Amino acid sequence: MPARIGLICRKIRHAHSSPETHRDTMWHARMPDLARGACVATDARMDSRSPSIVTPTRSLVIPSSSLSSAALADDTPGSIFFIGTATVLIRYRGFTILTDPNFLHRGDTVHLGYGLRSQRRTEPAIGFEELPDVDLVLLSHMHEDHFDRLVEKRLDRRMPIVSTPHSTLVLKRKGFLSTHALSTWDRFEVRKGASRMTITAMPAKHGPSVVSSLLPPVMGSMLELDRGDGTTFRLYVSGDTMIHEQLREVPKRYPDIDLALLHLGGTRVLGILVTMDAKEGLEALRLIDPKEAIPIHYDDYTVFKSPLSDFQEAVEAAGLSSRVTYMERGDTHQFGAITAADTVRHMVELDRPPSSGPQPTSSR
Ligand SMILES: [Zn+2]
Repeated sequence: MPARIGLICRKIRHAHSSPETHRDTMWHARMPDLARGACVATDARMDSRSPSIVTPTRSLVIPSSSLSSAALADDTPGSIFFIGTATVLIRYRGFTILTDPNFLHRGDTVHLGYGLRSQRRTEPAIGFEELPDVDLVLLSHMHEDHFDRLVEKRLDRRMPIVSTPHSTLVLKRKGFLSTHALSTWDRFEVRKGASRMTITAMPAKHGPSVVSSLLPPVMGSMLELDRGDGTTFRLYVSGDTMIHEQLREVPKRYPDIDLALLHLGGTRVLGILVTMDAKEGLEALRLIDPKEAIPIHYDDYTVFKSPLSDFQEAVEAAGLSSRVTYMERGDTHQFGAITAADTVRHMVELDRPPSSGPQPTSSR
């Protein structure tokens, strides 16, 4: 083990209380060449809810040899490429992030546990083999419509995967070497050359309490993408969730979300709603209050019972159409180009006295 990594990982051992986390870290320490990224640093931040709780931030460095200067230009927008279900490619300043990889085909069946099955009704926009180089996979939970058996078989075992403690445990058993477990509100920093982002696990609840305890734990994600000019683009991914009390904490902590990807579909298991339908989707739009929202995970499986048109009608009736962008599989949507207005806003912010405490802060 290189001395530097050994030293830093010993520091991390002290910074983390959970043996699970320590094991994660040591995988990287033992296999810096195998893992596509290496654990090199950590720090600790005060949790805004309670100053006595320290939330450690782990980090991952992704080799940046392929990073072009064009990718780092301030005015280069990011993009969302919608593949299908909850599978999207997020590209920003040299990062390529794949969410909830599902590449099964129309007619294929997924197993959702307890003997429950569902059939895919759609084709993914591209095949697994057509994926570009991916830096990391962001996985909301371990359900086969989010991480399918084809992906399980073919995904490089060295691919960094950020997910719930439950999913990462399952993935480790399947031989994945670079898993990073996040509990709700845990932060994870990713660097690639001069590009930086932070992933924070958001609360999510897959159905009403009794049902959600029978389904895999889910996390939403907040991606804070460093725009390279001192400002941050905030991209929220809901994961499979219902509106629930803890979700109300998201806008308190993050009052300025730029873009939200909302998992809709109104999935029903044995008649019980376990993902947001049109009504809950509209409530999420109001609650999370992003500048822009994009519904995903809306019509791909037979268990998805709430058509996108229902959400569209609800949004129109609420007068919020200008806030929602609709994507079809295969569409690319650009986001986050720095505008002249952003530059002026940032200059005004620089003129203000510095705020105290870490970002984001609670609005309470
Ligand atoms: Zn699910």
